[in-house]
Amino acid sequence: MQAVMETYKRLGIAPTGGEGSWLFDREGNRYLDFIGGIATNSLGHGHPDLVGAIQEQAGKLIHCSNLYEIPLQAEVAEMLTGATDFDRVFFCSSGAESVEAAIKLSRKYAHDTYGPNKHEILTFSKSFHGRTYGGLTATAQPALRDGFGPMLPGMVHAPFGDLEAAEALVGPQTAAVLVEPIQGEGGVNEPPEGFLRGLRGLCDEHGALLIFDEVQTGAGRTGHLYAYQGVGVVPDVLTSAKGLGGGFPVGAMMVKEEYAALGPGNHGSTFGGNPLAMAAVKAVLGVVNDPAFLREVRFKGTVLKNALEKLAEQVPGAEVRGEGLLLGFDFGDAGLAREVFEHCLDQGVLVNLVGGTTIRMAPPLTVSRTEVRAALDTFRGGVYQAVEETVPEAAVA
Ligand SMILES: *Cc1c(COP(=O)(O)O)cnc(C)c1O
Repeated sequence: MQAVMETYKRLGIAPTGGEGSWLFDREGNRYLDFIGGIATNSLGHGHPDLVGAIQEQAGKLIHCSNLYEIPLQAEVAEMLTGATDFDRVFFCSSGAESVEAAIKLSRKYAHDTYGPNKHEILTFSKSFHGRTYGGLTATAQPALRDGFGPMLPGMVHAPFGDLEAAEALVGPQTAAVLVEPIQGEGGVNEPPEGFLRGLRGLCDEHGALLIFDEVQTGAGRTGHLYAYQGVGVVPDVLTSAKGLGGGFPVGAMMVKEEYAALGPGNHGSTFGGNPLAMAAVKAVLGVVNDPAFLREVRFKGTVLKNALEKLAEQVPGAEVRGEGLLLGFDFGDAGLAREVFEHCLDQGVLVNLVGGTTIRMAPPLTVSRTEVRAALDTFRGGVYQAVEETVPEAAVA
């Protein structure tokens, strides 16, 4: 690893193969993957539909420039617009790139419709929108931005969930409000009831676009193809990536026809929507965009969440958040969270820590009910052990 820039704090395991919800390393260790490449391996590992689609397309045509027509791109765009409230799709290769596209589109729309003074974008504390300058400026986490200034001008931030604070910052100068319907990296934070609807109202009132960053919550993660479909608040623009390609790097920005302000020459991406990426998305949507599949995701998510909530009752200050198969167990204590995380790792269950005190779970959407129970047993064991250790000697009669 000496030659790799150390931009990640890595755990000492090295998976070299995978099948379903399991990862294997060269020493023959098995890991139950309850983080799924951070909500990315939506179909688990080695899913025959995804592997087959990529293999078949690789043999036909891997890349073709957007100088030409790409029929598979048109087909996949129609799959997405047919399954959502959007009419136009811009394809790219990552989440950050999809956020950049959304930022550029909303500014262009505001500029063309209202003039150059309407360019401000409101985002929220604890958000995560990617590592590029647009995404990073939108990401209202000082720790991630320190040392990289100056940030992009024209972005303002309100506390996540605080509708009054948002109201104070939205006005005629606002081009867009950018928000995750459930914050992923920030700790699996759900907004309070009415917050997203309130933002919808503010945007309508001030002619601003409402952008949902569904890079993490999208592609079936919450048990809906997109989380907004479960919330009942329809944004104008939506970003998608992570699970969309099941591990193949692909992103998408979707928008309603009336706001599709980008024309030829305004934006682009060399790899965006190339045939190999589109074959991957088509395979993923073929599995995920199915009411029975999504219902099963909701079922497994509900079983898992109920069990975690029961467990949380035994940990003072603990809280469970999230929806579908994007769940967070907040211990309210960094030491406790780390101890349980390490217990899970020791026992071969992969989860991760977000926001310091929260363990995030995002298993493949294809995870079996049996695997959910197995991960729960391990997690529960870790919690019992950690909580036992916090009982002071003096409290024992
Ligand atoms: C991961 C993530 C991103 C960034 O995606 P990359 O593919 O890493 O660029 C943006 N927004 C949200 C909500 C994310 O979870």
